[in-house]
Amino acid sequence: MKYILRCTVCKVEYSSRHSYQTCGSCSGNLEVVYTEKPKFGKGNGEDFWEYEFLLPEARYRHRELGGTKLIKSKDDERLHFKLEIENPTKSFKDRGSVVEIAKAKEYGYETIVCASTGNMAYSLSYYAKLEGMNAKIFIGGSASKHKLRNIRELHDADVERVDGDFNKALDCAYRYSKRHKAFLSGDYCYRKEGQKTLAYEITDQLREVSHVIIPVGNATLLSGFFKGLSEMRKAGKIRRLPKIVAVQARKCSPLVKAFDRNGEVRYEKPMTSADAIAVGYPTFGNEAVKMLRSSGGMAVAVSEAEMKKEQKKFLSDYGLVAEMASVATIAAARKIKFKKDDIAVAVISGGNV
Ligand SMILES: [Zn+2]
Repeated sequence: MKYILRCTVCKVEYSSRHSYQTCGSCSGNLEVVYTEKPKFGKGNGEDFWEYEFLLPEARYRHRELGGTKLIKSKDDERLHFKLEIENPTKSFKDRGSVVEIAKAKEYGYETIVCASTGNMAYSLSYYAKLEGMNAKIFIGGSASKHKLRNIRELHDADVERVDGDFNKALDCAYRYSKRHKAFLSGDYCYRKEGQKTLAYEITDQLREVSHVIIPVGNATLLSGFFKGLSEMRKAGKIRRLPKIVAVQARKCSPLVKAFDRNGEVRYEKPMTSADAIAVGYPTFGNEAVKMLRSSGGMAVAVSEAEMKKEQKKFLSDYGLVAEMASVATIAAARKIKFKKDDIAVAVISGGNV
């Protein structure tokens, strides 16, 4: 769809030719605002590209992703698992990466740069390689060695470890993008557009969903998901929003705490071994808290032991490897008292273990 970009802070507007994902006057984050009305068809949720006309207009060349399976829990027939581990780099990040890389290519960049705890870099460097672009990656926190090896050796990315956590890596990526004219990628507006397709797919696969359980690191998935839902409600495709449940590790739960005390998100040093959600200050945290409230949802923290237990159980029940952040959603589901007619979906966000 045709669109413009608008600064979320100072509200300045840019045409879609503006080739940065941040504001030129105040450095605030931009958002994609469509200038045409989305028209939703009767999808079946089996193909990412049935929603291509709902994405920012671009030339999308690498098309193997999305349309991931939805399976029923063996313990509770009201609970379903959305298997994002089926994506090419085994996480939901691929949905956002195809949009970012297509736009970076269109704007004529040769290099993309991002901050990551692992999965984002794994996904972005994969699509950068397919497009013949260079990838510069700043890694903060405790990304797994397996992820880093693939990013370096398989995807040929230039990886730099940062002495600090994810938020420190974000600063490094921003400064690098300015200094080296690289496309700043990661948790910004184009990624959100790709990630909202998860809301479209789940809605088409299940129709009346009552709860969607989403792991939260930087809260881009939650925020993109909410955007997708809002678009569908505005267009009359769904009547009401499902309750959104945000899940964090208890050892890094700034969003859960902000939700509980009904205040602003405050930085917290990540101490969890669930690396994909080890983010001390979520970029879209404050926005996410408002979204949880307006969907009638909630925020849940789970322990390291609960995640480890679910990880083993998920492997033995379904034969599937899921990372700690993924099974955090199952641990959270066990704390929710579902009603008889509820239909819940836990997003199994990544499988890079
Ligand atoms: Zn601005």
